[in-house]
Amino acid sequence: MYPDRVVSGMRPTGALHLGHYHGALKNWVKMQSELPCLFFVADWHALTTHYDDPSVIEKSTWDMLIDWLASGVDPSQSTIFIQSKVPEHAELHLLLSMATPLGWLERVPTYKDQIEKLATKDLATYGFLGYPLLQAADVLIYRATQVPVGDDQVPHIEMMREIARRFNHLYGKEKGFEEKAQEAVKKLGSKRAKLYNELRTEFQQEGKDDALEQAKAMLDDAQNLSMIDRERLFGYLEGSRKLILVEPQVKLTTASRLPGLDGAKMSKSYGNAIALREDKESVTKKVRTMPTDPARVRRTDAGDPEKCPVWKFHQVYSDAATLEWVAKGCKSAGIGCLECKQPVIDAIILEQQPMHERAQQYLDDPTLVRAIVADGCDTARKLAQETMRDVREAMGLGYN
Ligand code: ATP
Ligand code: MG
Repeated sequence: MYPDRVVSGMRPTGALHLGHYHGALKNWVKMQSELPCLFFVADWHALTTHYDDPSVIEKSTWDMLIDWLASGVDPSQSTIFIQSKVPEHAELHLLLSMATPLGWLERVPTYKDQIEKLATKDLATYGFLGYPLLQAADVLIYRATQVPVGDDQVPHIEMMREIARRFNHLYGKEKGFEEKAQEAVKKLGSKRAKLYNELRTEFQQEGKDDALEQAKAMLDDAQNLSMIDRERLFGYLEGSRKLILVEPQVKLTTASRLPGLDGAKMSKSYGNAIALREDKESVTKKVRTMPTDPARVRRTDAGDPEKCPVWKFHQVYSDAATLEWVAKGCKSAGIGCLECKQPVIDAIILEQQPMHERAQQYLDDPTLVRAIVADGCDTARKLAQETMRDVREAMGLGYN
């Protein structure tokens, strides 16, 4: 019914690292040539943890935009913008907050987790509790169907789906909906109408998801429907409501949780990260000093790759032959740890080479980045305003 669309964002809280690249950016680059994509700098989200020292946000915003462009995000294919320049996100966040049960937010697994991990910060704030709801607004406002993020974000996307469902349930009521929907069914033509009714029954009475998918595909193909009838028929499949907001799906990469130098999830706040545009010398030094299997003290001690953080990097960066060379050499003490690390160092440096090259023109001329973002903010804002018109009307605020 609504067109496929991709939305994702990142917080400008410091230099991006390889985790951001392997967990999310790689998919951004891939998806931009397949679907309309919107990527935003989540500066309000940065404030949820950095409200007491926001000085890092502005510089990180521009650095991060260069990191994205360096990774291959292409402004001629993607819409790139800054969250706070599209204030409609805040309006939707507020409106969604009215009907969001507190328990949904308190139950988000990252909530208690982060409060414990970032114990030096006071995160017992309203903003921090609400940030997954702000994320929901960020995504739902574009009626995004796909959200490419790292695996720590999966519970958040799950909650967005619940928020969208609840919104449609509460506000998708329409006077005479049943009659209007049945009129629309007739417009499908007798053969399709029959199929539609059968599939709808199969889904509603037997919970068959594939019946739902098949019916949706059929509606996608039905050329002669008006937008509003199409919307009704999509809603009628699942219940008796119009679909105003769309439930997004998560899109993961193969390395959706990249480990850091110490084997824990790579994160700038854990000091275990390699920056996206880190220089060669520093990459080399960081990997060479990475801890390995603690049992391998001397060169002659055999090791166990499963206990070594370097092995996790090999799994991301190395081909089958190298993996075998590592596994054999480690277990038999046939190779030393520094030898084992060299292919990882080489692979990271090779991966970063085109990033350094692509970044250069934007470092030389920062006005290029400003122009890209100005364009992107305009495009995003128009789309956001379209959804907000429907949302306001559905919530009884459509008057002028
Ligand atoms: P950091 O953890 O370094 O502080 P962050 O969590 O503040 O970064 P976000 O803006 O929350 O950064 O994350 C941006 C995107 O990068 C999200 O989709 C997140 O899932 C992904 N991501 C972050 N770290 C990793 C990682 N180590 N592996 C895979 N994906 C990651
Ligand atoms: Mg995060």
